[in-house]
Amino acid sequence: MVRKVEKPKLIAFEVTRRCRYSCQHCRADAGLEQMDGELTTEECKKILASVADFCKCVIIFTGGEPMERDDIYELIRYCRELKLRPVLATCGYPINYDSITKLKDAGILALSFSLDGASAETHDRFRRTPGAFNKAIAATKAARRADMRFQINTTISKININEVAAIAKLAQELGAYCFNPFILVPTGRGEKLSDQILDPVEYEALLNDLLRLKLKSQIEVRVTCGPQFARVVEQSSAEKRFGNIEGCMGGTGFGFISYKADVQTCGFLNISAGNLVENGFDFGKIWRDSDFLKEIRDLPSYTGKCKICRFLNICKGCRARAYTISGDYLGSDPVCAYEPEAGKYESDEISKKTL
Ligand code: SF4
Ligand code: SF4
Repeated sequence: MVRKVEKPKLIAFEVTRRCRYSCQHCRADAGLEQMDGELTTEECKKILASVADFCKCVIIFTGGEPMERDDIYELIRYCRELKLRPVLATCGYPINYDSITKLKDAGILALSFSLDGASAETHDRFRRTPGAFNKAIAATKAARRADMRFQINTTISKININEVAAIAKLAQELGAYCFNPFILVPTGRGEKLSDQILDPVEYEALLNDLLRLKLKSQIEVRVTCGPQFARVVEQSSAEKRFGNIEGCMGGTGFGFISYKADVQTCGFLNISAGNLVENGFDFGKIWRDSDFLKEIRDLPSYTGKCKICRFLNICKGCRARAYTISGDYLGSDPVCAYEPEAGKYESDEISKKTL
Protein backbone atom coordinates (compact mmCIF):
# COMPACT_ATOMS: atom_id res chain seq x y z
CA MET A 1 0.00 0.00 0.00
CA VAL A 2 1.39 3.38 -1.00
CA ARG A 3 0.62 6.14 1.46
CA LYS A 4 -1.53 9.05 0.30
CA VAL A 5 0.60 11.96 -0.89
CA GLU A 6 0.76 14.35 1.99
CA LYS A 7 1.60 17.99 1.39
CA PRO A 8 4.61 19.16 3.38
CA LYS A 9 3.97 21.22 6.48
CA LEU A 10 7.63 22.23 6.60
CA ILE A 11 10.20 22.78 3.89
CA ALA A 12 13.84 23.56 4.63
CA PHE A 13 15.28 25.73 1.88
CA GLU A 14 19.09 25.63 1.78
CA VAL A 15 19.60 29.05 0.23
CA THR A 16 23.39 28.89 0.42
CA ARG A 17 26.27 26.71 1.50
CA ARG A 18 28.33 29.70 2.48
CA CYS A 19 29.30 29.93 6.15
CA ARG A 20 32.15 31.45 8.14
CA TYR A 21 32.29 28.43 10.43
CA SER A 22 33.41 24.97 9.44
CA CYS A 23 31.63 22.80 11.99
CA GLN A 24 32.64 19.18 12.40
CA HIS A 25 29.13 17.83 11.87
CA CYS A 26 28.03 20.10 9.00
CA ARG A 27 25.70 18.21 6.67
CA ALA A 28 26.21 20.83 3.96
CA ASP A 29 30.01 20.78 4.17
CA ALA A 30 29.64 24.57 4.17
CA GLY A 31 32.54 26.97 3.75
CA LEU A 32 33.57 30.48 2.80
CA GLU A 33 33.30 30.00 -0.95
CA GLN A 34 30.03 30.21 -2.85
CA MET A 35 29.19 26.89 -4.48
CA ASP A 36 28.76 26.71 -8.24
CA GLY A 37 25.07 26.69 -9.02
CA GLU A 38 23.92 28.65 -5.97
CA LEU A 39 20.50 30.02 -6.83
CA THR A 40 19.92 33.62 -7.82
CA THR A 41 17.33 35.80 -6.13
CA GLU A 42 14.95 35.31 -9.06
CA GLU A 43 15.39 31.53 -8.98
CA CYS A 44 14.75 31.46 -5.23
CA LYS A 45 11.60 33.50 -5.75
CA LYS A 46 10.36 31.17 -8.49
CA ILE A 47 10.95 28.22 -6.16
CA LEU A 48 9.06 29.90 -3.33
CA ALA A 49 6.18 30.73 -5.68
CA SER A 50 6.00 27.14 -6.91
CA VAL A 51 5.93 25.86 -3.33
CA ALA A 52 3.21 28.36 -2.42
CA ASP A 53 1.12 27.16 -5.38
CA PHE A 54 1.23 23.67 -3.87
CA CYS A 55 1.06 24.28 -0.13
CA LYS A 56 1.15 27.13 2.36
CA CYS A 57 3.81 25.62 4.58
CA VAL A 58 6.52 26.83 6.93
CA ILE A 59 9.74 27.67 5.05
CA ILE A 60 12.89 27.15 7.09
CA PHE A 61 15.65 29.24 5.56
CA THR A 62 18.79 27.25 6.18
CA GLY A 63 22.31 26.81 4.87
CA GLY A 64 25.24 27.05 5.36
CA GLU A 65 24.42 30.28 7.08
CA PRO A 66 21.35 31.80 5.38
CA MET A 67 22.23 35.26 6.67
CA GLU A 68 25.23 35.20 4.31
CA ARG A 69 22.79 36.00 1.49
CA ASP A 70 22.33 39.73 0.94
CA ASP A 71 18.82 39.12 -0.36
CA ILE A 72 17.63 37.14 2.66
CA TYR A 73 15.30 39.93 3.83
CA GLU A 74 13.81 40.19 0.34
CA LEU A 75 13.19 36.42 0.25
CA ILE A 76 11.55 36.48 3.67
CA ARG A 77 9.34 39.38 2.63
CA TYR A 78 8.40 37.48 -0.54
CA CYS A 79 7.41 34.43 1.52
CA ARG A 80 4.96 36.55 3.47
CA GLU A 81 3.49 37.94 0.26
CA LEU A 82 2.95 34.34 -0.86
CA LYS A 83 1.34 33.45 2.50
CA LEU A 84 4.20 31.10 3.34
CA ARG A 85 5.46 31.16 6.94
CA PRO A 86 9.21 31.90 7.04
CA VAL A 87 11.55 30.98 9.89
CA LEU A 88 15.34 30.97 9.84
CA ALA A 89 18.02 28.61 11.20
CA THR A 90 21.28 30.33 12.09
CA CYS A 91 24.43 29.56 14.02
CA GLY A 92 24.21 33.04 15.47
CA TYR A 93 27.33 34.94 14.38
CA PRO A 94 25.50 37.34 12.01
CA ILE A 95 22.71 38.00 14.49
CA ASN A 96 22.44 41.12 16.60
CA TYR A 97 19.65 43.45 17.67
CA ASP A 98 19.72 45.37 14.37
CA SER A 99 19.63 42.29 12.14
CA ILE A 100 16.78 40.84 14.21
CA THR A 101 14.85 44.08 13.82
CA LYS A 102 15.33 43.84 10.05
CA LEU A 103 14.31 40.18 10.06
CA LYS A 104 11.19 41.08 12.02
CA ASP A 105 10.35 43.91 9.63
CA ALA A 106 10.72 41.48 6.72
CA GLY A 107 8.26 39.12 8.41
CA ILE A 108 10.31 36.31 9.95
CA LEU A 109 8.24 34.38 12.48
CA ALA A 110 10.93 32.62 14.53
CA LEU A 111 14.64 31.81 14.67
CA SER A 112 16.57 28.74 15.65
CA PHE A 113 20.07 28.96 17.06
CA SER A 114 22.50 26.05 17.03
CA LEU A 115 24.04 25.30 20.41
CA ASP A 116 25.99 22.05 20.60
CA GLY A 117 27.40 22.37 24.07
CA ALA A 118 26.54 23.86 27.43
CA SER A 119 30.00 25.38 27.55
CA ALA A 120 32.28 27.24 25.17
CA GLU A 121 34.70 24.34 25.28
CA THR A 122 32.29 21.79 23.78
CA HIS A 123 30.43 24.13 21.43
CA ASP A 124 33.56 25.78 20.01
CA ARG A 125 35.18 22.38 19.49
CA PHE A 126 32.15 21.21 17.48
CA ARG A 127 32.10 24.48 15.56
CA ARG A 128 35.88 24.58 15.19
CA THR A 129 35.76 28.31 15.96
CA PRO A 130 36.86 29.95 19.21
CA GLY A 131 34.25 32.45 20.36
CA ALA A 132 31.34 30.70 18.58
CA PHE A 133 29.63 29.88 21.88
CA ASN A 134 29.76 33.48 23.11
CA LYS A 135 28.40 34.72 19.77
CA ALA A 136 25.51 32.24 19.90
CA ILE A 137 24.64 33.27 23.45
CA ALA A 138 24.82 36.96 22.51
CA ALA A 139 22.50 36.26 19.57
CA THR A 140 19.91 34.63 21.85
CA LYS A 141 20.07 37.64 24.17
CA ALA A 142 19.52 39.97 21.24
CA ALA A 143 16.55 37.85 20.17
CA ARG A 144 15.09 38.09 23.63
CA ARG A 145 15.58 41.84 23.73
CA ALA A 146 13.88 42.16 20.35
CA ASP A 147 11.06 39.92 21.56
CA MET A 148 11.77 37.36 18.82
CA ARG A 149 10.61 33.79 19.35
CA PHE A 150 13.50 31.33 19.14
CA GLN A 151 14.43 27.71 19.73
CA ILE A 152 17.73 26.00 20.44
CA ASN A 153 18.88 23.22 18.10
CA THR A 154 21.50 20.77 19.34
CA THR A 155 23.13 18.00 17.31
CA ILE A 156 23.74 15.08 19.66
CA SER A 157 26.65 12.66 19.33
CA LYS A 158 28.99 10.90 21.74
CA ILE A 159 30.85 14.23 22.04
CA ASN A 160 28.06 16.06 23.86
CA ILE A 161 25.63 13.38 25.06
CA ASN A 162 26.57 14.09 28.65
CA GLU A 163 25.66 17.75 28.27
CA VAL A 164 22.12 17.32 26.96
CA ALA A 165 20.39 18.11 30.26
CA ALA A 166 22.65 21.14 30.79
CA ILE A 167 21.97 22.46 27.28
CA ALA A 168 18.22 22.03 27.81
CA LYS A 169 18.50 23.98 31.07
CA LEU A 170 20.52 26.68 29.35
CA ALA A 171 17.92 26.90 26.55
CA GLN A 172 15.23 27.55 29.10
CA GLU A 173 17.32 30.14 30.95
CA LEU A 174 18.06 31.94 27.68
CA GLY A 175 14.34 32.26 26.98
CA ALA A 176 13.92 29.73 24.16
CA TYR A 177 10.40 28.46 23.59
CA CYS A 178 11.73 25.05 22.51
CA PHE A 179 14.73 22.80 22.96
CA ASN A 180 15.20 20.76 19.79
CA PRO A 181 17.81 18.01 19.90
CA PHE A 182 18.83 16.53 16.53
CA ILE A 183 20.40 13.10 16.47
CA LEU A 184 23.63 13.11 14.44
CA VAL A 185 23.37 11.76 10.91
CA PRO A 186 26.91 11.33 9.57
CA THR A 187 26.63 13.04 6.19
CA GLY A 188 28.63 15.83 4.61
CA ARG A 189 31.50 16.78 6.87
CA GLY A 190 29.76 14.72 9.57
CA GLU A 191 30.92 11.56 7.77
CA LYS A 192 34.18 11.99 9.60
CA LEU A 193 32.22 11.73 12.85
CA SER A 194 30.96 8.21 12.12
CA ASP A 195 32.69 6.97 15.24
CA GLN A 196 30.78 9.57 17.27
CA ILE A 197 27.29 8.28 16.39
CA LEU A 198 25.49 6.95 19.43
CA ASP A 199 25.35 3.19 19.61
CA PRO A 200 21.89 1.59 19.95
CA VAL A 201 22.15 1.17 23.72
CA GLU A 202 23.17 4.74 24.49
CA TYR A 203 20.70 6.05 21.89
CA GLU A 204 17.81 4.18 23.54
CA ALA A 205 18.86 5.54 26.95
CA LEU A 206 19.02 9.05 25.48
CA LEU A 207 15.51 8.76 24.03
CA ASN A 208 14.20 7.75 27.44
CA ASP A 209 16.07 10.64 29.06
CA LEU A 210 14.55 13.01 26.50
CA LEU A 211 11.09 11.68 27.27
CA ARG A 212 11.65 12.32 31.01
CA LEU A 213 12.95 15.77 30.14
CA LYS A 214 9.91 16.48 27.98
CA LEU A 215 7.58 15.40 30.77
CA LYS A 216 9.06 17.83 33.28
CA SER A 217 10.34 20.65 31.06
CA GLN A 218 8.79 24.09 31.24
CA ILE A 219 9.60 24.63 27.56
CA GLU A 220 8.75 22.47 24.58
CA VAL A 221 11.13 19.59 23.87
CA ARG A 222 11.00 18.32 20.30
CA VAL A 223 13.24 15.53 18.99
CA THR A 224 14.31 15.76 15.34
CA CYS A 225 15.88 13.00 13.28
CA GLY A 226 15.41 10.62 16.16
CA PRO A 227 12.26 8.99 14.78
CA GLN A 228 12.37 6.21 17.38
CA PHE A 229 11.31 8.84 19.91
CA ALA A 230 7.79 8.29 18.53
CA ARG A 231 8.11 4.61 19.43
CA VAL A 232 9.51 5.34 22.91
CA VAL A 233 6.62 7.72 23.62
CA GLU A 234 4.12 5.16 22.31
CA GLN A 235 5.67 2.44 24.49
CA SER A 236 5.34 4.65 27.57
CA SER A 237 2.17 5.95 29.12
CA ALA A 238 3.07 9.48 27.98
CA GLU A 239 1.57 9.15 24.54
CA LYS A 240 -1.89 10.23 25.72
CA ARG A 241 -0.42 13.39 27.13
CA PHE A 242 1.51 14.40 24.02
CA GLY A 243 -0.83 13.15 21.32
CA ASN A 244 0.81 11.86 18.17
CA ILE A 245 4.56 12.33 18.01
CA GLU A 246 5.72 11.90 14.44
CA GLY A 247 8.77 9.88 13.48
CA CYS A 248 10.62 10.65 10.26
CA MET A 249 8.62 13.14 8.20
CA GLY A 250 11.11 13.24 5.30
CA GLY A 251 9.19 12.98 2.03
CA THR A 252 5.77 13.32 3.68
CA GLY A 253 5.28 16.22 6.10
CA PHE A 254 8.78 17.57 5.49
CA GLY A 255 10.79 18.35 2.40
CA PHE A 256 14.13 19.91 1.56
CA ILE A 257 15.28 22.07 -1.33
CA SER A 258 19.03 22.24 -1.87
CA TYR A 259 21.17 25.25 -2.78
CA LYS A 260 20.99 24.07 -6.42
CA ALA A 261 17.23 23.40 -6.43
CA ASP A 262 17.19 19.65 -5.87
CA VAL A 263 14.10 18.44 -4.01
CA GLN A 264 15.00 15.90 -1.32
CA THR A 265 13.27 14.15 1.54
CA CYS A 266 15.65 15.92 3.88
CA GLY A 267 19.08 17.48 3.85
CA PHE A 268 20.74 14.34 5.20
CA LEU A 269 19.55 11.95 2.51
CA ASN A 270 21.43 13.31 -0.43
CA ILE A 271 19.25 11.89 -3.22
CA SER A 272 17.44 14.20 -5.60
CA ALA A 273 13.76 13.59 -6.31
CA GLY A 274 13.96 16.15 -9.11
CA ASN A 275 15.43 19.54 -9.87
CA LEU A 276 13.23 22.61 -9.78
CA VAL A 277 15.25 24.62 -12.30
CA GLU A 278 15.29 21.73 -14.74
CA ASN A 279 11.56 21.00 -14.42
CA GLY A 280 10.51 24.63 -14.87
CA PHE A 281 9.82 25.36 -11.19
CA ASP A 282 6.98 22.94 -10.53
CA PHE A 283 7.40 21.77 -6.96
CA GLY A 284 4.04 19.97 -6.84
CA LYS A 285 4.91 17.80 -9.82
CA ILE A 286 8.13 16.55 -8.24
CA TRP A 287 6.49 16.05 -4.85
CA ARG A 288 3.63 14.04 -6.32
CA ASP A 289 5.34 12.14 -9.14
CA SER A 290 8.92 11.37 -8.11
CA ASP A 291 9.58 7.61 -8.11
CA PHE A 292 12.10 8.06 -5.32
CA LEU A 293 9.55 9.83 -3.09
CA LYS A 294 6.96 7.15 -3.90
CA GLU A 295 9.44 4.51 -2.77
CA ILE A 296 10.21 6.35 0.47
CA ARG A 297 6.47 6.61 1.19
CA ASP A 298 5.89 2.93 0.47
CA LEU A 299 6.49 1.48 3.94
CA PRO A 300 5.95 -2.19 2.95
CA SER A 301 8.94 -1.90 0.60
CA TYR A 302 11.20 -1.29 3.60
CA THR A 303 13.60 -4.07 4.49
CA GLY A 304 15.43 -5.40 7.55
CA LYS A 305 13.75 -5.23 10.92
CA CYS A 306 11.86 -2.01 10.12
CA LYS A 307 9.74 -4.02 7.66
CA ILE A 308 8.30 -6.21 10.38
CA CYS A 309 8.24 -3.63 13.14
CA ARG A 310 4.87 -2.80 14.61
CA PHE A 311 6.01 0.79 15.12
CA LEU A 312 6.96 1.35 11.48
CA ASN A 313 3.93 3.52 10.78
CA ILE A 314 4.80 6.04 13.45
CA CYS A 315 8.60 5.79 13.41
CA LYS A 316 9.70 4.92 9.86
CA GLY A 317 13.35 4.80 10.92
CA CYS A 318 15.91 7.30 9.71
CA ARG A 319 16.27 6.65 5.99
CA ALA A 320 19.37 8.85 5.85
CA ARG A 321 21.21 6.91 8.57
CA ALA A 322 20.21 3.63 6.92
CA TYR A 323 21.60 4.91 3.61
CA THR A 324 24.79 6.43 5.00
CA ILE A 325 25.72 3.42 7.08
CA SER A 326 24.40 0.44 5.12
CA GLY A 327 23.92 1.93 1.62
CA ASP A 328 20.23 0.96 1.59
CA TYR A 329 17.79 3.78 2.29
CA LEU A 330 14.96 1.27 2.73
CA GLY A 331 16.93 -0.77 5.28
CA SER A 332 16.94 -0.71 9.08
CA ASP A 333 18.01 2.37 10.95
CA PRO A 334 21.28 1.09 12.45
CA VAL A 335 20.99 3.02 15.71
CA CYS A 336 17.63 1.53 16.67
CA ALA A 337 17.84 -0.85 19.64
CA TYR A 338 14.34 -2.22 19.25
CA GLU A 339 14.08 -5.86 18.16
CA PRO A 340 10.67 -6.45 16.64
CA GLU A 341 11.16 -10.19 16.63
CA ALA A 342 13.76 -12.60 17.92
CA GLY A 343 16.42 -13.43 15.39
CA LYS A 344 19.02 -11.55 13.50
CA TYR A 345 18.73 -9.44 10.38
CA GLU A 346 21.40 -8.64 7.88
CA SER A 347 21.13 -4.92 8.59
CA ASP A 348 21.75 -5.50 12.29
CA GLU A 349 24.98 -7.22 11.42
CA ILE A 350 25.99 -4.21 9.34
CA SER A 351 25.16 -1.82 12.16
CA LYS A 352 27.12 -3.81 14.72
CA LYS A 353 30.17 -3.84 12.51
CA THR A 354 29.93 -0.13 11.79
CA LEU A 355 29.15 1.06 15.26
S1 SF4 B 1 15.63 10.54 7.02
FE1 SF4 B 1 16.57 10.79 9.01
S2 SF4 B 1 17.64 12.76 8.85
FE2 SF4 B 1 16.11 12.71 7.24
S3 SF4 B 1 14.26 13.63 8.10
FE3 SF4 B 1 14.11 11.40 8.40
S4 SF4 B 1 14.91 11.09 10.45
FE4 SF4 B 1 15.63 13.11 9.78
S1 SF4 C 1 12.79 -1.27 13.92
FE1 SF4 C 1 12.66 0.45 12.44
S2 SF4 C 1 10.53 1.11 12.49
FE2 SF4 C 1 10.88 -0.14 14.31
S3 SF4 C 1 11.38 1.31 15.93
FE3 SF4 C 1 13.31 0.62 15.01
S4 SF4 C 1 13.78 2.12 13.40
FE4 SF4 C 1 11.63 2.37 13.97
